[in-house]
Amino acid sequence: MTTDPRLYLDLDLASGARLPLGKEESHYLINVMRRSAGDTVRLFNGRDGEWQAEIADANKKHAVLDLVEQTREQAGVPDLELLFAPVKRAKTDLIVEKATELGVKRIRPVTTTHTQSERINEERFRSIAREAAEQTERLDLPEIAALEKLDRVLDGWDASRTLIYCDEAGDDGARPWGGDAGRAAAMRDMLGGPGPAAILIGPEGGFSAEERDRLRQLDFVRPVSLGPRILRAETAAIAALTLWQSACGDWS
Ligand code: SAM
Repeated sequence: MTTDPRLYLDLDLASGARLPLGKEESHYLINVMRRSAGDTVRLFNGRDGEWQAEIADANKKHAVLDLVEQTREQAGVPDLELLFAPVKRAKTDLIVEKATELGVKRIRPVTTTHTQSERINEERFRSIAREAAEQTERLDLPEIAALEKLDRVLDGWDASRTLIYCDEAGDDGARPWGGDAGRAAAMRDMLGGPGPAAILIGPEGGFSAEERDRLRQLDFVRPVSLGPRILRAETAAIAALTLWQSACGDWS
């Protein structure tokens, strides 16, 4: 694999195009990656595939690129969404980064009864997702949705999308693990086809009994267990995304 730097640019990429870069991208290429005129870069924009470009002008503030050739056709990621209750900032950033690396199409932060933080910084999420996409050879960026109450998200849910609900507490929160009978089935056994899906991860404090009851009554919801240990939210997100991608996604 070439070691050319990869940049996401929201500009049309076409043969023979000459692209002026903004301050941030110019600084990154010239000062951080120490590239100069004649060096090559790889570009993607989420619609035109990946292109090789040559630095025509290595101005530190306004570099200019000439497109050389398309190196990869546009390819998307599976139709998978991640719904998660924001946790502490560093862990939340990690969830956004890993969800991008693991090929999530849409990242949907949700507030639940026990959610710690009621605010997110969407611009920060976008910049984390862009950097992760640039580094993982993705050809697109995940969509970052605004923070929304879980109840409202469920009210407007498209039932053709399966919601895989990571349920650490089973159907009887009063008994450890919901008691043997009430424990959710192993995720591996609950996975359907590659169709539109979403994964739901709760906050550090878990879901409330009311939320669990509501989720378990919805036809499009599949309660699943991620094993006999309580995972931190960020670990649960990574584990569930890995299982889905390997069984139903673009790893299979
Ligand atoms: N406070 C909860 C408790 O102590 O029971 C733990 C919440 S856990 C830290 C955060 C989220 O990760 C949970 O809401 C669930 O979505 C997911 N999770 C963690 N471990 C899990 C498991 N073993 N099975 C299914 N989901 C799990």
